[in-house]
Amino acid sequence: MFLKEYISDIAGAVGSLLKGMRRTGWYFLHREEAITQQYPDNRDNMGLPERFRGEVVMPHNEQNEHRCTGCTACELACPNGTIKVVTKFEVNAEGKRKKAVDRFIYHLELCTMCNLCIEACPTDAIKMAQNFEHSVYDRSRLTKILNRPESRLQEGVE
Ligand code: SF4
Ligand code: SF4
Repeated sequence: MFLKEYISDIAGAVGSLLKGMRRTGWYFLHREEAITQQYPDNRDNMGLPERFRGEVVMPHNEQNEHRCTGCTACELACPNGTIKVVTKFEVNAEGKRKKAVDRFIYHLELCTMCNLCIEACPTDAIKMAQNFEHSVYDRSRLTKILNRPESRLQEGVE
């Protein structure tokens, strides 16, 4: 009786293994049907969904200009203090003192990718990027300054 059950269990296990292997073999021969992806080998052609949010970035043009006026609307919209906009005053061509961004500090480790800051920005100065490989050994490296050194406000942006 015991031996019969024992053999039956082994036969069941082998049958189950073969069933799984048959599925694996099928995907091996039909690569185009596979749902899983070979990350990180497929980094260059991953095809992330368009709406995927990886981090907040501030685009700069070739002249090292951005569109951030330092209005702090994004900082106020952020629900968890991820953004800190440090401002300064600059004298413009007409000799007028004007507020400008000094440092746009972004704490990636706090960001929930809710997108509220992007929606709040009146000048489209920030956007979501799709980079998601954020692992670091030192947590402080997740705090980023989004405006580049020596960058300035793009002409015509108010
Ligand atoms: S995406 Fe959300 S959590 Fe992240 S900085 Fe913007 S408002 Fe804050
Ligand atoms: S990113 Fe946009 S909302 Fe935030 S300070 Fe700059 S201009 Fe204002």
